Amino acid sequence: MTESSFKPTNFIEQMIAADLESDKHGGKVQTRFPPEPNGYLHIGHAKSICLNFGIAEEVKGAKCNLRFDDTNPTKEDVEYVDSIMEDIQWLGFEWSGLFYASNYFDRMYEYAVQLIKLGKAYVCSLTPDQMRGYRGTLTEPGKESPWRDTSVEENLDLFERMRKGEFEEGEKVLRAKIDMHSPNLNMRDPVVYRIKKAVHHRTGDKWLIYPMYDFAHCLSDMIEGITHSICTLEFEDHRPLYDWYLNTLKTPCHPQQIEFARLNLNYTVMSKRLLLQLVQDGVVDGWNDPRMPTISGMRRRGYPATAIRDFCDRIGVTKKDSCIEYSFLEQCVREHMDVKAARRMAVLDPIKVVMTNYPEDQVEEMICKNHPKDESMGTRNVPFSRELYIERADFMESPPKNFYRLSPGGNVRLRNAYVITCDEVIKDDKTGEVTELHCSYHPDTKHGKTPEGMKKVKGIIHWVSAKHAFTGAQVRVYDRLFSVEFPSQDKSISFKEKLNPNSLMIKQNAKLEGSLADAKKEQYFQFERLGYFFVDPYETTDEQLVFNQTVSLKDSWAKEA
Ligand code: ATP
Ligand code: MG
Repeated sequence: MTESSFKPTNFIEQMIAADLESDKHGGKVQTRFPPEPNGYLHIGHAKSICLNFGIAEEVKGAKCNLRFDDTNPTKEDVEYVDSIMEDIQWLGFEWSGLFYASNYFDRMYEYAVQLIKLGKAYVCSLTPDQMRGYRGTLTEPGKESPWRDTSVEENLDLFERMRKGEFEEGEKVLRAKIDMHSPNLNMRDPVVYRIKKAVHHRTGDKWLIYPMYDFAHCLSDMIEGITHSICTLEFEDHRPLYDWYLNTLKTPCHPQQIEFARLNLNYTVMSKRLLLQLVQDGVVDGWNDPRMPTISGMRRRGYPATAIRDFCDRIGVTKKDSCIEYSFLEQCVREHMDVKAARRMAVLDPIKVVMTNYPEDQVEEMICKNHPKDESMGTRNVPFSRELYIERADFMESPPKNFYRLSPGGNVRLRNAYVITCDEVIKDDKTGEVTELHCSYHPDTKHGKTPEGMKKVKGIIHWVSAKHAFTGAQVRVYDRLFSVEFPSQDKSISFKEKLNPNSLMIKQNAKLEGSLADAKKEQYFQFERLGYFFVDPYETTDEQLVFNQTVSLKDSWAKEA
């Protein structure tokens, strides 16, 4: 028995613990994360990353490889390879070995030749359309290809000529000879190799034929000595084929494929194919647009890696398909930000307040805590003067009953400062829009004091001194990228028709507390009462700071629902 402090927390880890106990793989545990470099990683991949790399972290001596599943040269690119490595490292994981399926193309070719020699593979000349017709359906068996019984010699010759480029794409394929009557369609003589006259980002023009996923995947796992090949549920029906290839080729090791339920999130899409369309159509600002469900998008939005890992831990790993609420991910982010973000005041949609009884040239330094609970984060002085900005939404001319903020004749407390009363509402003659509020302040209410005779004020709002405001920032407030819960479900309407037109709101006129002028790229803050904000590392310039709203303070969607 292997001694370890490993505490299994899901069914896959329990299987691994049992395998360690029974010494099934000689005490060895080796997993891998096998992305195809045809897009950026998304939050679904994070679940798989946390599972595979997590096992390697927890089990003593265990390893996890990063292997690029680069068998389809027409869709793959080094840009994706680089982004995938960056994202995994940012999440805080390290791979034991870095591999590419394309490293094994020579060996895969040899294994294919071996299949032919065993009489278990043949070159088929049916056209793609014919092949579909021969395949049968879930209720009808397939039909055998007329090329199924070609001799080994002839097949070897044809396969060699496929490799040399003597045939055109789609003219011939190599197929495994399994069972056209199998109830599992994957077993009806699946394609092993196809012709693709494309340049590969690593092997260049060396190959004109490329292995299919099922063949390449099990062999890559086997070559690396993977013990537990963890994948998502849709590969359950591929497992018999995975096992068939390895059994037929009598390979020296046989990894165990284990499936788990993929992560689904509402209000977004997670297929790389769909995400690529958003990027190509310019609907979003690249793969790392802060609204994208990609890891790089979330990083740019300010989601901490620890929050994403915590989210993956908390949703758990099962075999049952389910959909996780996007708001749960946001809640994890909020919990992590709450602890570490310094508090600041910022007004995003300003309206001016003039305190008519406050001396013209007076400035008071109000002492404000940087964090309500963490004393070690200290305090700062925030200047207070006769003219301030408050949030337009914190004033209402004809408020409903439970509106505790500012209204004509009403009182409100300015956070860390005084209680004010709204005496006069100034409007634009033409538009009727409220342009300024004339108020009086109550000198005896500083720092939360309520003088005798004054009714306790319920509402507390944030403010920024007009004279001291920092205006060199653009603040970007985000909402869900889609306005429907399952954008790709109803296929009769394109998912692009379901985009939320208000997913990005740019606040060009924001008034920020002066200290924010010194904010650096990738710093984060809580803007009191508004949410958490992160300084965009890409679009912040010497002239303008760009703040991305990471997440609001409350789940505004819960209220609506
Ligand atoms: P997509 O459908 O987004 O294109 P994919 O499965 O084709 O994803 P791969 O690059 O092949 O993308 O995925 C790498 C690994 O990540 C695979 O092992 C896959 O099972 C896993 N994975 C992909 N999407 C999810 C998800 N939503 N939840 C959990 N694991 C996932
Ligand atoms: Mg895939």
